[in-house]
Formats: sequence, structure tokens, C-alpha cells
Amino acid sequence: MNIAWFKDISNKDVPLVGGKGASLGEMYSNEFPIPNGFVVTSEAFKNFIESTGIAPKIFKILKETNVKDNAELQKASKDVGKIVLETPMSKEMEEDIVENYEILAEEGEFVAARSSATAEDLPEASFAGQQATYLNVKGEKQILAAVKACWASLYTARAIYYRTKNNFPHEQVYIAVVVQRMVNSEKAGVMFSVNPLNEKNNEILIESTYGLGESVVSGSITPDDYTVDKNTMEILGRKIVRKEWFLTKDLKGKNIKKDVPEKYQNVSSLSDDEIKQLAVLAVKSEKHYDKPQDMEFAIEGKDVFIVQSRPITTLNKKKEVVVEDKKEDQMEIGEAKLLVSGLQASPGVGRGKVQIVRGLDDLGKVKKGDVLVARMTTPDYVPAMERASAIVTDSGGSTCHAAIVGREMGLPVVVGTEVATNKLKPGMFVTVDASKGRVYEGDVYIEVETEERVDIKTNIKVKVIMDLPDYAEKAALTGADGVGLLRGEFINLGNKEHPVYMINSGRGEEFISHLVENMKKVVKAFKGKPVWYRTLDAPTDEFRNLPGGEDEPEEDNPMMGWRSIRRSLDQPELLKAEYEAVKRVHDAGFTNIGIMIPLVTSVEQIYKAKKIFKEATGMEPIKDIDFGVMIETPASVQIIEEICKEGVSFVSFGTNDLTQFTLAVDRNSAKVQKLFNELHPAVLRQIHYVIKVCKRYKVVTSICGQAGSKPEMAEFLFNEGINSIAANPDAVNTIRKLIAKLEGKL
Ligand code: PEP
Ligand code: MG
Repeated sequence: MNIAWFKDISNKDVPLVGGKGASLGEMYSNEFPIPNGFVVTSEAFKNFIESTGIAPKIFKILKETNVKDNAELQKASKDVGKIVLETPMSKEMEEDIVENYEILAEEGEFVAARSSATAEDLPEASFAGQQATYLNVKGEKQILAAVKACWASLYTARAIYYRTKNNFPHEQVYIAVVVQRMVNSEKAGVMFSVNPLNEKNNEILIESTYGLGESVVSGSITPDDYTVDKNTMEILGRKIVRKEWFLTKDLKGKNIKKDVPEKYQNVSSLSDDEIKQLAVLAVKSEKHYDKPQDMEFAIEGKDVFIVQSRPITTLNKKKEVVVEDKKEDQMEIGEAKLLVSGLQASPGVGRGKVQIVRGLDDLGKVKKGDVLVARMTTPDYVPAMERASAIVTDSGGSTCHAAIVGREMGLPVVVGTEVATNKLKPGMFVTVDASKGRVYEGDVYIEVETEERVDIKTNIKVKVIMDLPDYAEKAALTGADGVGLLRGEFINLGNKEHPVYMINSGRGEEFISHLVENMKKVVKAFKGKPVWYRTLDAPTDEFRNLPGGEDEPEEDNPMMGWRSIRRSLDQPELLKAEYEAVKRVHDAGFTNIGIMIPLVTSVEQIYKAKKIFKEATGMEPIKDIDFGVMIETPASVQIIEEICKEGVSFVSFGTNDLTQFTLAVDRNSAKVQKLFNELHPAVLRQIHYVIKVCKRYKVVTSICGQAGSKPEMAEFLFNEGINSIAANPDAVNTIRKLIAKLEGKL
């Protein structure tokens, strides 16, 4: 079957029409107002590559490609893409597609062609966003070309790399193409069937603006927002903002910005009637899927359309956790066998089968719910970590990669066990009690304590540390007063390439857009609250794993090597690209973004970093944008007075590095973790001195090292008079409560 219309598709048809096609079909056939369409099925694609005889050629090329060699990878992608594009499809298939397009075109000439990849028998194959979409396609020739182009996009370098790295056999991944009527949207936006801002179950949140919904989804404008009572459908609140421009299509179908006429700028984009119609649909969708939904809508004339509906993934898990009762066959902790123990790096309990990951080739073995065991994780592990129920590592301390990422994902993590990869065996069922740093054999009952959340405004700002922009909304749910550290390096992980390689091979724009897109997720989730983006600080050993990173120099001691601002000044093209991304985010109205420079050891570095910023963006650091530095070397402590005189908006203590360099303790070595102590007098005295000097110069002080999540450190900093503290998402509540108490508010 080459073609399936939405009306004949349900959720069960993922193998035939891909995830996107199946969910659109499911909604259409359940009478949601979805713009009509059909899917060119995965069978059609399979049929195409098989009947034309190109399948063996394609898979031979892919098999022989070393994806770690970027030149080879790019060539393979180009060669395979060319084969797909230049091989004609059969006359019958062409006719099939065109005939169905003509039927659809009676409802509206413009259609969108969207790729919808699907993997046979492979659970959790998340290919979202990897393949192409073509909007505003019109006419026979164009639709055929768009389908072909979507097919070819199954073989972009990024997609090949991702599949190879995650062990998805290329032969088992197919692609379907959704062909859907384009709505000529006059107003559009998003809505949530549970208010994600306060997690109130009985509130629907709608955000809307004029024109195309992309401006709301991407966060490039501030939308009007409305809250509706789910039971009575009463409109509880509305916030109407000034809307100066909107996104629309020109005659050729290209997206353009247009000015909103003065008299409509301060008017509500939705009528009460539309708000209610939407709210009814939100309820219907939540009922249908039996889960809170996050939906996109578009309104054309009098017609309200739903464009997408998917479960809200960011609701605070803590609140959903019902304290578990002991199951009959679960062991009591007293009778359980303790296999290994290590440091508690991210709290919680996880259970599942052990999978040992010794390198990238093993990542695909990790299935949903498994316990990922490794010597240490790297940024490439993130997709597999997302599938895991817990992480256990041999090495590392509380500031290592696994710990940082795990905390952000809300995943239980035990690090520094020294022996987990030897002692734990693949397939073994274990219970990880990360709150105590222990791993037990079998299914063990562990009592979980949950903490009540306090929402008190403190004078000292309690902020959050962020690495993964996809978790920004979740982090925002902590109610944190901003992001005290947004690490640049994690944004560049997984299937992405080495940034300098991208810039040098003429693809700087791609790198910048990727940064912009990810920064926006964060500044949007923390609207109106400061977000300090820290420029790239990956050591050479982490960069080396990225495609294009093969030429990274070998260093005996990467932590003290070519990283952070010293590297950025040697490679100003990299720093400029990051600055450009920050400027674009700032220009899009997110003036809450700021810049933070890592591992400073001299005033000259700060002077140069500011100078390059001015040249690259035309903006004035400090005056136009927050521009601060990290205090994470003893050198920066000693010259704090000169730093203040040079001029910075703020300083932030990076106690992970400051402790490492003060105590000469490698922060990643399990053997010396017992000596890693951020509360060591040598560290505390430096902090004391810096805060004292900064006060004199009216420079804001903050902390963004892991120690900010520790109550003892937070109390010390409170007494020293620090201005803000950034904690891990899971610690924000505890630290806020502590500060509120110290401020006499609790
Ligand atoms: C630090 O050193 O404390 C810090 C926050 O930076 P990172 O952990 O990224 O080195
Ligand atoms: Mg640091």
C-alpha cells in the first residue's frame, strides 16, 4: 500500500506511516479538526529502493563508511542522496501520489511534506527532527520532488551518524512522508491541557499570536496567554502583550515578517469564543490520550485546527510519584545483597537489567528501563542515558559528566564505585538506591522520601544550573530565579559535529542556528529571569569524540590544558560564533540572556573577551548585556581587584574547578574523591576575600559550582552576603527553603 489517508490511520500504524503520520491519523479519525492529508507509506519507500535495485548499493556504501571520519561520512551521505534523487520512481507510484495530491488540493493547493521515519521492531527509535520537512508545496512536479527529497533525507550525514552510533541497522529504518494541507493561519499558538507553569491540573494554558504558530513555538515572540478553568470553561486570566510583528507567507510561500497594524497591536489575538473552542479541544485530547497534552493550533477564518498533540513531558515528576508500597515479591533491604557502593551523585531509586557500556558501539544495547553501567559517561551517551532507569559508573565524583547530566534528567546516579563494570554482569537485575550510593542484586524495596516544595521569594536569588536545553521547562518548574550557569558544551553533543570543524568547513551558520535554537529553549522557559550562558569549556578529550574532532591535540592533563577562555582566544572564530548566537537571542527580545567566561586567569583575557564581543556584535558588554566571569582558579581570586577594575557585571564561583586547583585534587578521579572538599578552609577563605572585594566595587557575586547545592556551603555564602546561588534542579527547593529560613521568612 503506497498511500494511506488520515481517516484510515490509527496509532497502531507506526510501522506503516511513522510516528508523526500515526498520531495525525489517530486524531483525524477521532474527529479532531486536523487539516486533512495522506501518507506516502514506508512500504512505498521500501518498494522504491527494492524494485529499482538501489537498496544493495545504498547499504553497501553505508556499510563501508567509517562515520567517525567526517569527510567519508559527508561523501557517503552525498552519494546515497544522489542515488535516491536520481533514480526515477515507477510510473504507477508517481500516478498514485499525484492523484491523491489532486484530491487533497481541492481543499487547498498548498501542502506540507513532512518526513516521518520509522524503525522495524526497534523500540524507542527516536528520529524526531532528523529528516526534512517542506512547507508550501504546490503542484504535481513539486510534490513528487518533495517526496523524493524527504526520502533522501533519511541519509543526511547526521541521520547516518546517529543510527550508526546508536546501532540502528540502516536496513531496518524506513521513511514515510506525510502530505498535509497547509492551513493559512491567521492566528496560531500552543496550548497545554494542564498548566505547566504551576502544574494545576484544572487549568488549561493557551498561548497565541497573529500569523504562523512558528513564532510562538520557537519562542521568538512573546505571545498573549490565557488560562481557562477545565471544569467550568471559565476564562480565569488573560495577559495581552504588544504584538508588533507577525510571521506569514509571501506569495511564493516563503515565511516573512510583517508589521501588525497599530490598532491591533494591543488587542487580544483570540476571541473568547475561540479560547473556549480551544479549551474544549484540549480537554478532548487529554481524555482521548489519557494524559496531559501539549498541542499546537492554527486558526484560519472561522476554522480552528489542531496541528499537533503530544504528551506533556515536563510536568514535575516528583508530584506524580506516589510513595510506592512494597510489592509482594520485593526483598526488604536487610535481606538484599549489596553488590557495589559509590558516591551519591543524583538521588532516586532505579531498577532494571544491567547493560555494560564500554564504548559508543554498546550504546544501542541500552533499552528502556535498563541500568547503564560504564567506566564514565560522555556527552555521546546522552541518548542512551535518557533510556536508562539509573546510571552507575566506576570513576568520577559529584561533578563528573554522569552526575551533572543525571541530576538534570532526574535520573538516579551512583558514581565512583571503582568496580561496577567488573562486578555487575550484563542482564543482571539490580536495584540502584542512588540516594545512598548503593546497588543491590534483585528487586529491592526502598522507601522514598519526597520533599514538600516551598514557593517563597527570597532576597538572595536561588537559581538553577542547566546543561540540557530540552530539560529547560522541567528546570523552570523548580521556580528558580534564573539560570546561574548554562553550559555551552552540552548543547553540542550527540550527533553534532566539532564546532570548529563546522565553522572551518563553511558551516558556521548551522552551528550558530543550533546554538540559537537551544539557547531559546532556555531563555523562553525562564522568561524575564537572567540566564547566563557560559562560553565553551570542553576539554580536548571531550571534543575529540565529535565527528571532525580527530585533530584535537593529545594532552596529558586536559583539565589544565586547552579549554575555556584560553582556547576561545586562540580560536576567536569559535567565540565569535557563540557571541553571534547570543546576540540573535538577545535581538529576538530575550534580553534576559547574559554571558559568562570560564577559567579566567588574567585581566587581559577579560579585556580581549569583551573586545571581541564588541567587534562581533556591536553591543556594549555590561551596558547592553550581563557580562561576567567565573572565579574558578586561585589566580582569579588573587587578581579579583583588578578584575573588578577592568569591569564585569558579575562573578560566579566555579567551585568544582576552584577546589580542584586549590587542593590539587583531580575532580574526576575516584581515588582522590575523599580529598575533594569544597568546604576546605583554603576554598572558603578565597570565597570570603572575593565577595568582600566585589562588594566594594558593586560587582554581583554568585556561585555555579556543584557546592551551591550543599546546605553547608549555602549557609556560609549567605553569611558572606552573596547575591545569588545556583543549585542543581533537584536541590533548588532545599536551598530555597534554607535561604528562606535564614532570611527569617519560614
Ligand atoms: C565549576 O568549575 O565549578 C563549574 C561550574 O564549571 P564546570 O563544572 O563546567 O567546570
Ligand atoms: Mg569549571
